[in-house]
Amino acid sequence: MTRRRWIAEHWDEATATLTGTQAEHMARVLRAQPGMEAHVVAGGHVFHAEVAAVTPQEVRFNLLSEIDAEPALPITLAVSIFKFDHMEWGIEKATELGVAAIAPLIARRTEKHLAQAAEKRVERWRRIALEAAKQSRRSDIPIIYEPVPLAQHVRSLSDATRIVLAEQERSTTLRSLVEEAVTLASNRMPKLELAFGPEGGWAPDEEALFDANGWRPASLGPRILRAETAAIAALAVVASYLE
Ligand code: SAH
Repeated sequence: MTRRRWIAEHWDEATATLTGTQAEHMARVLRAQPGMEAHVVAGGHVFHAEVAAVTPQEVRFNLLSEIDAEPALPITLAVSIFKFDHMEWGIEKATELGVAAIAPLIARRTEKHLAQAAEKRVERWRRIALEAAKQSRRSDIPIIYEPVPLAQHVRSLSDATRIVLAEQERSTTLRSLVEEAVTLASNRMPKLELAFGPEGGWAPDEEALFDANGWRPASLGPRILRAETAAIAALAVVASYLE
């Protein structure tokens, strides 16, 4: 059995169960049989497991032993909703890069029709994150929150170091803020939250709101990046410090 990770929909302390397309794939395509071994993710933990029973509707595993799992990066991306195809690409890449959570935001310059359609797209975004988590053999699936207006999120309470990626920022680099957070956290991984604006960038009053709520502006360099490029570049900078 390839060392692909199966992410269980149901589990208890001794067994885990796949249903839906994962069960059908195992039963019909991989022709899984009782006794076959696999790596199964249940409740955020990875187990060495063996197939106990197989039907195209449900595959049940006995969990044999827990495997050390690489934790996600303690990073939340607060992403202003932008063109869905680019955004979905960004969700997939951020998942591969180990992001822990993605909070879609409705910013002032988020196109109205995207803001209205966002609620109906969240399930699709969660499926993209699930597939990317499996493909990249993560032991956990990033949380995709329900979209909220930017101000609600900016004002929400958080124990993370909150950084707003600002294309106008010239003096402070993301790197310097991450170095500071890593130093402050001594031997723990610092929890970080990174906010990205829509194609139209941040509105002046949004930048003031971030500032008033303790978010630190940071630059990713002199060039203007697409939001999804900025998200991936920022994750790479942070991961280089945390992993
Ligand atoms: N409309 C803007 C670009 C917005 S890019 C303009 O043309 O000036 C979308 C988001 O990506 C920005 O709001 C910011 O969060 C991020 N971003 C892009 N380039 C960046 C950079 N060089 N430094 C920091 N953040 C950047």
